[in-house]
Amino acid sequence: MIDYKRAVKNITDRRRADLDAGLEVWRNALSCNAELHSAYVKYQDEAIKNAQRLPNELTAARDSLAAAAKKAGLKKSDIEPPCRCDKCKDSGYVNGRYCGCVIKNVITSNSDNLTLPLADFGSARSTAPKTLKKLYDAAENFINSFPDGDKPFFVIVGSSGTGKTILESAIATELMQRGAAAVTISAFEFVKRAKDYHTQFAIDDYVDLFTPMLDCDVLCIDDLGTEAMLKNVTREYLYSVINERWLRKKYTVVSTNLTPDALLSRYGEAIFSRRCD
Ligand SMILES: [Zn+2]
Repeated sequence: MIDYKRAVKNITDRRRADLDAGLEVWRNALSCNAELHSAYVKYQDEAIKNAQRLPNELTAARDSLAAAAKKAGLKKSDIEPPCRCDKCKDSGYVNGRYCGCVIKNVITSNSDNLTLPLADFGSARSTAPKTLKKLYDAAENFINSFPDGDKPFFVIVGSSGTGKTILESAIATELMQRGAAAVTISAFEFVKRAKDYHTQFAIDDYVDLFTPMLDCDVLCIDDLGTEAMLKNVTREYLYSVINERWLRKKYTVVSTNLTPDALLSRYGEAIFSRRCD
């Protein structure tokens, strides 16, 4: 389990290590390749003259250096390794917020965040009962709308043993294969985290367990309706998490044994009505 700040440090440390490795490749090449070395010395001389606005042959020197590097089998990406994350350029932040790569780092460092098994969408669909065909079609549209869909909310309703969990796992797996950071948890665990957060919110660990549910690209809550109905917690946190994710256009999947009517009466209109067709 790692927290957000440590994840940022992991990412910036890794960037520094990548750059150091590139520098090492370059130094090694210079030390064992006389032609490359002299082309580099020449290039530096010309670059200094150019900086001093003296007559120079910088362009020609740059070309010979590039040719010598090519001849030595050096690639630019070996010497200057590209950033691993294009969005934050391995800084960990985009516009003052944690980058998706940081969030992913935090989420994947904790196996508690992925409690559903992985399931291939295509195989799950081919072995699913015929009665679920429409649901799989709808799920496929939902997946294909990622990450910019207007309705990033999907509810899987059905009695137990009908393959709900497999479908939910398959949606999460497919979205992860498309690069999403997913959190899959049972409703029971959701309420446990909400309760811990609610009662101990000053402690960092609880924040680190709770915030991935807000920050992940896709949150799957399994078996809603089986969790304890805690006063001031269950309904309130479910609403706040689902609502915040909806407003931030983040994807949420919920599976439940409850009928749509039972769902509305247990959690209230606010959570489900306007988000479901
Ligand atoms: Zn990033």
